[in-house]
Parts: sequence; structure tokens; C-alpha cells
Amino acid sequence: MKSTNISRKRRLKNILFVCFTICTLLIIRVGIIQFVQGSELQSMAYKQQTLNRKINPKRGTIYDSTGKNILAVSASVETVSVTPSNIKKEDKEKVARAMSDIFGLEYETVLKKVSKNSSIETIVKKVEKEQTDKLREWMNENSIISGINIDEDTKRYYPYATLASNVIGFTGSDNQGLEGIESRYDDILKGTTGKILKVTDARGTDLGNEGEDYIEAIDGDDIVLSINMTVQSIAEKYLEQACIDNVCTDGGNILIANPKTGDILAMASYPNYDLNNPYKINKDDLEFVWDTLSSKDKSESLQQMWRNKAISDTYEPGSTFKLLTSSAALEEGITDTDNSGEFACTGSINIAGTRIKCWRYYRPHGSQSLRQALMNSCNPVFIGLRTKNWSRKIL
Ligand SMILES: [Zn+2]
Repeated sequence: MKSTNISRKRRLKNILFVCFTICTLLIIRVGIIQFVQGSELQSMAYKQQTLNRKINPKRGTIYDSTGKNILAVSASVETVSVTPSNIKKEDKEKVARAMSDIFGLEYETVLKKVSKNSSIETIVKKVEKEQTDKLREWMNENSIISGINIDEDTKRYYPYATLASNVIGFTGSDNQGLEGIESRYDDILKGTTGKILKVTDARGTDLGNEGEDYIEAIDGDDIVLSINMTVQSIAEKYLEQACIDNVCTDGGNILIANPKTGDILAMASYPNYDLNNPYKINKDDLEFVWDTLSSKDKSESLQQMWRNKAISDTYEPGSTFKLLTSSAALEEGITDTDNSGEFACTGSINIAGTRIKCWRYYRPHGSQSLRQALMNSCNPVFIGLRTKNWSRKIL
């Protein structure tokens, strides 16, 4: 009797010890969840329980100098997404079939998205309203009222396609500026994204209108360029002609500025590309072998095509700069156009111990006026043209 009592006591003790250990472990675990992982888990729960759909702002318009001709504009389109848990299991195949038919997508891919265990899946981006109206009609006929979201979005259009393409640049699938003005002034053009915030349960199912929050998008600002569409078109037309006529394999550039204000009226590059289709290469020989190129080669060729060579590449102006030197000398009254025999070319000029030759050093130009020096493109005259009576001082 006594020994049974002792063994019972011992068993009780053991059970108590086990219970105590389990309780202690549980308290420690709760402590870890609450205090160590607390904030992380809280944010994960928030993400799971709120459905966050973006509303894209309308990107600002880019105008030419007249403020009337539109060079880049955003039009309203729509983006379709699904909340898989809000679509009944028996409707999933039907929904996937309808969406793949309407938007020309692969059925299997759509079905996979519709069946996924996630809160939101994008089905198709930036489609015309005609197509989404078809989807709305189908939803109506089939009494499907939840799980399919049709949200406003915008798409960029370039009405003149190739005009000033290397200046304007283009945008990516999320309306972000990727090249040119679109990229440089993205902050002004892009606006602020709005959102629809919905409270859902852990599986992403709607909890009705309770807790729905709608934050409106703010549209981007417009930009007016100094580029004039008419001047730009003329520059591009003749640049193309000149490049073809002279077989310029590296292409060419034309910059036209208003001398009074410095405004750039045209900035043309040849060859240009189609802003509405910026990933299509503009050279026939490359296009022919495009599919065989490595992604690195493709990327380099595209970068080269998008480049605004008029401002990104350097080119030594050479003798064309003589026009600026002579204009400055005339403005400062250092010389006049036709002072006969004012300058003398001896075939070279000595500057800081270095002898710089005239291009016609073997048969020097001799005495000439400024007009004649310009016609002869005589180097010593324009090197020395900086003070009155320079010829006597230097030569
Ligand atoms: Zn000379």
C-alpha cells in the first residue's frame, strides 16, 4: 500500500514537471512571437488582409513650341486583374476561358492565375475599353460579380511616331520614362499613383465595403518643348536625304537654334526609330538576324538606336568653328570683313613654342582679308585673331 502511494506521488511529480516544462516553453514561444517577431508578423498580416490595387495617374502631355502640336500623350486604357479567392471554384475554368478568348491569351496561363492562392493576379495590362466592355458584358450574362477587377490605366501614344524620337524617348510598361525627355523629366510628367485599399480575410476574400479606402491619383504636369514641329520635320527630311545621298553609314545630326535666345528649334538624328514600337530595331540588316543575336548584342543595338547622338556623342567641330571666331572678332570690332591685305599667311604660326601649320603650308595663302581667310579656311589667321593689329605682333 505504501509503495503504491510512493510510486503514485513520483508519477504525479513527473507529470507536474512535464507540464511545467511545456508551460515554460510555451510562454517563451509566445514571448518570441509577441516581442521578437511581432512587428514583422503584423506587417505580413496587414499585407495578406488588405488588397492593394494601384490607380495609375495620367501622364503629362509633351507639346512642341506652339503648345498645340502633341508629341506624346496618354490615352485611357484598362488593366484587368483577378482576386482568385473571390471566384467560385466551379467558375474558375469558365472565367479563364472567357478571358483568354476576349484578350487572345493562352487558356492554360490564365487558368493558372485564376486558380492561384494569391490575393491578386494581373491578367492583361493596357487594353482598349472595347475589349474590357466585352468582358463586362460576359460577366453580366454569367452573373459573375466578384473576383474580376477592371481598373483604369493609361497608355502612351506618340502621334508622329518617329518625329524627334531621339529627343522625346519613351516609357515602360509601368508608365515610367525610360529614354529622352520622358526619362529626364519623369518627375514632372509622371504624377502620383492612387490606390484602392480593401480589407480582406486571410485568403484575400472581400469583407464588403467596410474599410474600403480610395486614394485618388494625381495626374502629371504637361511639358512644352522649344522644339518646333515644322522646323523639326524639315530638318529630319533633309537630314535623311543628305545621309542617303552621301552614304553616311554612321548617320547624322542636325541642331537648329534660335541665335537670339539659344532655344533649340530642332534636334534631328538619322536614323530615328518608331516611338510607338521602340523595341523594333531600325536597321534592315540587324532586323534580318535579330532572333539569332545574344541578349547583350540586342540590348547594345537598341541602346545605340535610342541614343540622342546630337548631345551624347562628341565630334570635333574643326574648321566650322572659324565662323564663331570671325563673328566674335567682327562684333568686338577687332577687324572688318574686307580690309584688303590685313592678314598674312606664311604657312604656319608659332604658339607657345609650338608650330601650327596652315593646311596649305606648302603654298601659303599670303596676304588676305578676313573674308578671303574664311574662304581659304586659313588656320594661322583664326589662331591669331584675338587682338587688334595681331599680324604685326605675332607674325
Ligand atoms: Zn593659310
